[in-house]
Amino acid sequence: MNSIDNMEKLPESKQQGILTVLQIPLKITVQEGSFLHIGGSPSPLTEKKAPVFSVDGKPAIPASSFKGAFRYQVEQLLIAKKGELKSKLEITDERLIRPCIPAPIPSKAEQELLHLGYRKHCEIKVEEDKVEIPKENNRPIGLCPVCYLFGATGLMGFLRIPNFWPEAGEHKIDQTSIRIDRESGTAAAGAIVTGEQVKPGTIFKGTLEIVAQQGTFQFGKAREIGGTKVDLWLDEITSKPTEEAQLLLINEILIPALNNIAVLGGQKSKGAGKVSIELNK
Ligand SMILES: [Zn+2]
Repeated sequence: MNSIDNMEKLPESKQQGILTVLQIPLKITVQEGSFLHIGGSPSPLTEKKAPVFSVDGKPAIPASSFKGAFRYQVEQLLIAKKGELKSKLEITDERLIRPCIPAPIPSKAEQELLHLGYRKHCEIKVEEDKVEIPKENNRPIGLCPVCYLFGATGLMGFLRIPNFWPEAGEHKIDQTSIRIDRESGTAAAGAIVTGEQVKPGTIFKGTLEIVAQQGTFQFGKAREIGGTKVDLWLDEITSKPTEEAQLLLINEILIPALNNIAVLGGQKSKGAGKVSIELNK
């Protein structure tokens, strides 16, 4: 249902101080027959299940909510398309493109992910003169592609995830209730969902940013810190022109993952959180 086409050239860039930042304006539409729950104020101390928070009476999709869904889709893509990505990105060892388990101390359920194509949680230690990159069976494997994009403990990623806001006057909050049909999962006769919801058809906008250049770090290229290569999965792509490498990552990883986002938030109620994502042209 989502339809972001592959890009023939890089998106527009903006200079932000010393950074060159690529801009991908996005539009998230709440699907017909669905809705988004609105939770309380975002807080790192409460469990965040709702995909939308109310800020000054206005609904917003916080970056953390979008990031969770986006990150998950990148993980799934790296597993499902590993063969294809391996040849397109000219990666010699397929194991280098596995996503890592997001938690440093994984739960039992997360441990199971190791059998589903994940690798252990990435961690990088950068000290004055020494950089320690992730290893597996004593073999350096570097940071995983997910951490390259979204950041890892000790090292920033290249993506800047925005909050999404509704256009002025376009946000619609239903304070009463929406009826959800449990069979079809759509708004119809059936159970009543109480609380505040964002109605179908509501459009949220935000700009996904990619840091194309920050000092010696370039998006699409492996980073080197203190003489140590950190992103071993991008070793081969380094021989390509920068723009070509950047387009490859955008078209082969970012856009397909964005297109696969169909739901935001935990699926507490059936039919909740269905969205579509498009470029905001
Ligand atoms: Zn990782």
